[in-house]
Amino acid sequence: MDARLVNAALVSPQRVSRAPLHLAQGRIAAAAAVAGGYQVDLRDHLIFPGLINAHEHLHQNAIPPLKSAAPFPNSYAWIAAFQAHFDDPAVIAALSVPKALRHRHGGLKNLLAGTTCVAHHDPWHAALDAADFPVGLLRDYGWSYAPGWRAYGPPIRQSFHATARDRPWLVHLAEGTDATAAAELRQLAEAGCLAANSVLIHGVGMGDADVGRVIAANAAVVWCPGSNLSLLGRTLAPRRLFAAGCLALGSDSRLSGASDLLQELILASEHSDLAAQDLLRLVTTDAARILRLPTVGGLAPGQQADLVIVGDRGGDPYRSLVGIGRGEIRAVVRGGLPMVADADFADWFAACGIQTVSVTLDGKPKLLAKSMADAALIALEPGLGPVDI
Ligand SMILES: [Zn+2]
Repeated sequence: MDARLVNAALVSPQRVSRAPLHLAQGRIAAAAAVAGGYQVDLRDHLIFPGLINAHEHLHQNAIPPLKSAAPFPNSYAWIAAFQAHFDDPAVIAALSVPKALRHRHGGLKNLLAGTTCVAHHDPWHAALDAADFPVGLLRDYGWSYAPGWRAYGPPIRQSFHATARDRPWLVHLAEGTDATAAAELRQLAEAGCLAANSVLIHGVGMGDADVGRVIAANAAVVWCPGSNLSLLGRTLAPRRLFAAGCLALGSDSRLSGASDLLQELILASEHSDLAAQDLLRLVTTDAARILRLPTVGGLAPGQQADLVIVGDRGGDPYRSLVGIGRGEIRAVVRGGLPMVADADFADWFAACGIQTVSVTLDGKPKLLAKSMADAALIALEPGLGPVDI
């Protein structure tokens, strides 16, 4: 169903503008290309591009986190501590949930928080290819796990060299505050694996010279403040990487990260001097460029019609998104179709032929597309509940 969203402000990192937004065949369309369609009056609303989560482990979001003694000196110490956690009955139960459902749950977690595109950092699973998977995914990329954890994932040099230079290559790096973490960027560069398509997850242990090296290589870092603070007790200083356009934001999974990308934006704001407008760049245009995803992260004609719609809170328009929780989002749109929204958008769902289920999300009544509302899926998501069905 084509649609015309009228009377809202369109907010991208570059500008705030006012014009009808036309959606046709899943894309944002030029006004001249659209005749008719369903009209949605969005006065007193702001439309943002759907958010991009640059680091996630989709299948790990329902596993109880380790309840122990942060800070760890590095992620390897955390992984070692986690081994005993596998005997915890709650962890065993979480891991007994079918993997396909766990991946889909990670997708739903992201969608509910306005994230419509995710970089998943693990082996591909067939569930990710479902036509109705809740979010879009980075698909064509290379990855390794981490320099110090070679038992899992493709070997670093082999994976880097097997990845085309115009596709992103992802690796956890310098996830720590000790000498092990501090050495990893230099080691990566010496191994010949620091290039413009290298996307380094975390980077907390990098020194000033390392940051300069990343910028000189036009490589990038994915900042995951929630995960860093819970595992390591501190996070990185983002200003130089941000100014160079070499920084994106990721949630990581809930094993270590905050509950979703909106909460990571709040942490990023609290732990840096970046303005809300700057932070929007990290989850839209800069992430799209770093992950080589030209059709997402913006509101230009031809881009995917992935949107987050919020109420206008007045003042700085960027603060109408950065600082809110997922329950306060008015609607999340993917491929031009509403997927989760407040109940007064029922007619929009109906016009698109989308069946919905009434749910509560963090205590707020919502409509959720029925394809996302499988009972087993809802049961996995804290804060999401069915309404007497
Ligand atoms: Zn990770």
